[in-house]
Amino acid sequence: MKKTAPVKERERTPIASHSSIIIIGGGASGLLAAVSARRAAEDAGIGTEACTITLLERNPRTGTKLRLSGGGKCNVTHEGSPQELLEKGFIRRNEQRFLRHALYSFTSSDLLQLLLARGVTTGVRADGKVFPDSGEASSVAIAFEELQRISSVVVRTSCRVKSVEQRDGLFQVRSTGTLFTSDALILATGGVSYSGTGTTGDGLSIAKTFGHTVMAPSAALTPVYTIKPPPASLAGVALRSAGLVASGGGRSVERRGDLLFTHRGFSGPAALSLSRDIAELMRESGSCQLFADLFPDHTTAEVEQFLLRQTKKNGAQMVRKFLQICPIAPPEGAFGTAPHGTIPTALVPSIMRHAAIESEVTWSILPKEKRLALLAVLKRFPLGSVRETVLDQGEVSAGGVSLAEVNPKSMESRIVPKLLLCGELLDYAGEIGGYNLQAAFSTGWMAGRNAVKSLKF
Ligand SMILES: Cc1cc2nc3c(=O)[nH]c(=O)nc-3n(C[C@H](O)[C@H](O)[C@H](O)COP(=O)(O)OP(=O)(O)OC[C@H]3O[C@@H](n4cnc5c(N)ncnc54)[C@H](O)[C@@H]3O)c2cc1C
Repeated sequence: MKKTAPVKERERTPIASHSSIIIIGGGASGLLAAVSARRAAEDAGIGTEACTITLLERNPRTGTKLRLSGGGKCNVTHEGSPQELLEKGFIRRNEQRFLRHALYSFTSSDLLQLLLARGVTTGVRADGKVFPDSGEASSVAIAFEELQRISSVVVRTSCRVKSVEQRDGLFQVRSTGTLFTSDALILATGGVSYSGTGTTGDGLSIAKTFGHTVMAPSAALTPVYTIKPPPASLAGVALRSAGLVASGGGRSVERRGDLLFTHRGFSGPAALSLSRDIAELMRESGSCQLFADLFPDHTTAEVEQFLLRQTKKNGAQMVRKFLQICPIAPPEGAFGTAPHGTIPTALVPSIMRHAAIESEVTWSILPKEKRLALLAVLKRFPLGSVRETVLDQGEVSAGGVSLAEVNPKSMESRIVPKLLLCGELLDYAGEIGGYNLQAAFSTGWMAGRNAVKSLKF
């Protein structure tokens, strides 16, 4: 009689399934890695039976974050040359250097052509952001699902990888009840923010087991909360094109852009963009003060001249009235004339209070020291002390696998051959504007192609 293992033992015995390439993570980078691996195999004349590709995704569907992106509209990339994308999208030089090869290998035009071939047309907004014309992020995610199908990629969803090891030259990838093996492995598990979408840092732990250094994950592109929230009357108020300055431990960082007051602190492009530096200042010095520069294009001396001219020209005007119509951040030489937004009316009482100026005072009776106090407030309006930059609410997270340990020309690990890493898992973080998805697509593209190249068929 044939002996069968007891039920419990059978349940524990994993079923092995072998592929040439396994990709862990079905987000932007993993999905594109699978497509590019198939294309590279086809280019090399290797058929689908010789080069098998399996993508493992813990969610019931691939592209969870893609579907959420851009407020459900998916800012899929940014218009411009790779060089422009690098300069506008990635402030840190080391990240620009690392991403350069990937962004040139798979450009934003390449991405748009790939989508167009699947029937997804796109349009460029005035600010350079590119969105699908459908207005639906799901159209991009569905296009990628179709691309997996036509690329003969075996997609296993609801499959969370628990551990990976390398034995006898094979990667052994374990999920509950299943053992997958592969010749090459692509880690594309994303960052750690929006953890509800499946990005809980599993890939970082796996990379560590292979000896990779992981830079501590940190907040980026996230709202900033202050210890004392802004007055409720300011929640929802936007300062157009202001300078946001963060100071802590003797260091200051600055960003230019729209700033939004919220119930808990600050959001809007300037705060989101600066949040990564703020998180670092907080880590380094334990505290961080925020200020807004209402005239970021002008020196204090220039603004002082502006206020003096106003005093001479319009002495009977109330300072309060002037502030309500004062153009915010006018371009150089155009004080008072440019078609700019004005200082939000709701902010004027706070400016007056900080400068200790009574509500009904006119320019002609404003003493010099009060004018100087006003000048100081306009150039450095105090926004409060930072309480928190919320890691989980970030559009991305900074930190991740050290860039020094990954070959930027192939995305292959410098520590473990045939292990490739791509997407937000790596230690870079881009700006808002489609740059992060483009970086995920481009690094994924490179990882897929080089996974095939790393194998012998
Ligand atoms: C709300 C929001 C809006 C955004 N909007 C934009 C935008 O408009 N434009 C833009 O450029 N960027 C945007 N981003 C950022 C962008 O979505 C990410 O940078 C990008 O998706 C990263 O791609 P990725 O493939 O590296 O990771 P992800 O897209 O996060 O994919 C990683 C995948 O790996 C899976 N995974 C993780 N661990 C395991 C495991 N153990 N086993 C199996 N699977 C696993 C996850 O479930 C996930 O699906 C946004 C982000 C958020 C959160």
